[in-house]
Amino acid sequence: MSFSSLGLSASLVKAVAAQNYTAPYPIQQEAIPAILQGKDVLGIAQTGSGKTASFVLPVLEKLQGTRASRNRFVKVLVLVPTRELAVQVGDVFKTFAGSLPQKIKTFAVYGGVSINPQMMQIGSVEVLVATPGRLLDLVSSNAVHLSEVEVLVLDEADKMLNMGFEEEMNRILALLPRNRQNILFTATMDEEVQDITTRLLSDPLRIEMEVEKQNPDLIKQLAYLVEPERKGPFLRYLIRQENMKQVLVFVSSTRTADNLVGKLLKNGLQAMALHSKKSQGARTDALTKFKAGKLRVLVATDLASRGIDIQFLPHVINYDLPRSPKDYIHRIGRTGRAEAEGEAISLVSAEDLHHFKVIQKKAGKKVSLVETDDLDLSGY
Ligand code: AMP
Repeated sequence: MSFSSLGLSASLVKAVAAQNYTAPYPIQQEAIPAILQGKDVLGIAQTGSGKTASFVLPVLEKLQGTRASRNRFVKVLVLVPTRELAVQVGDVFKTFAGSLPQKIKTFAVYGGVSINPQMMQIGSVEVLVATPGRLLDLVSSNAVHLSEVEVLVLDEADKMLNMGFEEEMNRILALLPRNRQNILFTATMDEEVQDITTRLLSDPLRIEMEVEKQNPDLIKQLAYLVEPERKGPFLRYLIRQENMKQVLVFVSSTRTADNLVGKLLKNGLQAMALHSKKSQGARTDALTKFKAGKLRVLVATDLASRGIDIQFLPHVINYDLPRSPKDYIHRIGRTGRAEAEGEAISLVSAEDLHHFKVIQKKAGKKVSLVETDDLDLSGY
């Protein structure tokens, strides 16, 4: 199957080829024609499935040949739970919109940065990607109007609810016209998500991707038994010994993240931290450098385990184990993506052993545990 057979015009087909997308992913095969036809879509899929392009491409296609938006009235609204996802989805829109014969202005807004530049730029935007809080701020200052939205996309709806955005979401929904197309993506389906899909979608095409089962075979999982006081030197040993060029290290607290980065730097390993106590500027900077391959080690809390797409990330290390098996799956899902192989390593202390067993059971995979007591870590 090719992108052109899905109903996309030549310029978008050329643009996907330029991104090295050779064939549409399964979710794109189903979602693109349905969205082009104006159907509501419910996508149960995670980052890594190709879900972003599955709505970005048909949405842009539909805007071709239509009249530009009135000043400050957006036509397409994409709601996302986090700033990082806003930037990421905004970038995908920008990449593809740039290749179209008719210019489509797309823009991403999110909190944690000054609102004024966003207010100035929002004028003739047709596609707005937004986090809920910042969007409401912009609405209340009359910087943007939602009464002419034709397409609503809710990306990572489950996360939006988990993060406590339900009230904001409802306030936003109340500002939209009744007659519109709705597209909703969620990684998981529980009662709360079910409730919002029922309220929002009318006779949707349901597309379910089993990404969690699709990719783990590409991920080599391994664990090392390491006592807490030896974890730091062992991490540095691993990075050097395996000559890891790009590694995402997960820790459980912002303090550990900062300490670890300090020690890595002291030992000559280039590292930055990504967590909620960093400013938005610092977070974007770390992520951009890491994505561009200009940063060797990114140390993150679970903030980074969902939704962030880093292409072909070869190594993920759980310096601290996550609390839940679900988080484990999300964390290791940062590697072994887009059909590239990856390696997920967990550092497990004797105290963690029981918890690690539970994680493996829930994740449905037994992970080999390697002892490290005999390893000489002096010099690391
Ligand atoms: P997503 O699930 O939207 O976060 O996308 C996951 C990754 O897959 C992104 O890095 C995309 O650039 C990439 N991607 C999306 N669609 C395709 C495709 N058809 N072929 C190759 N790569 C793709």
